[in-house]
Amino acid sequence: SSNTEPATERSLVLIKPDAVRRGLLGEILSRFERKGLVVEALELRTMDGELADQHYAEHVDKAFYPPLKNFMTSGPLAAAVISGDEVISVIRAMIGATDGRKAAAGTIRGDLALSNRENLVHASDSPDSAKRELALWFPNL
Ligand code: ADP
Ligand code: MG
Repeated sequence: SSNTEPATERSLVLIKPDAVRRGLLGEILSRFERKGLVVEALELRTMDGELADQHYAEHVDKAFYPPLKNFMTSGPLAAAVISGDEVISVIRAMIGATDGRKAAAGTIRGDLALSNRENLVHASDSPDSAKRELALWFPNL
């Protein structure tokens, strides 16, 4: 990949209800902006159960899903479309590992989260998931 120009991509990012409740919306958006990424769309939304089941289709049968669904529908979150060069992998690196206790220092979860569930941010994990999630959250974009 070093011989080719980086591809500009879009990622679907959710700044989760714990981040909104804790007043971390500005801090988290600011990290993405300072990195040089572009916020193309931004909306405060409250997820309902149906959207949660669609968004987390790969997880609906897992033991952690019921409390995850309860958490994700518990209050407003910020849904964003963020773009930039190789933004999907760039944002995944910036948010860190799923469990805030294990996420590396310097990452959003590593610096600001201490939970495996309430971990502040969702971001698309591949071009295919980004395509699916963007269609789900921002069908008109
Ligand atoms: P990520 O958000 O890092 O892509 P996953 O796709 O594996 O992580 O899981 C989706 C979300 O489900 C996580 O961000 C977290 O909120 C929650 N979750 C995942 N695994 C667990 C777990 N073992 N216990 C509690 N919550 C979990
Ligand atoms: Mg995931």
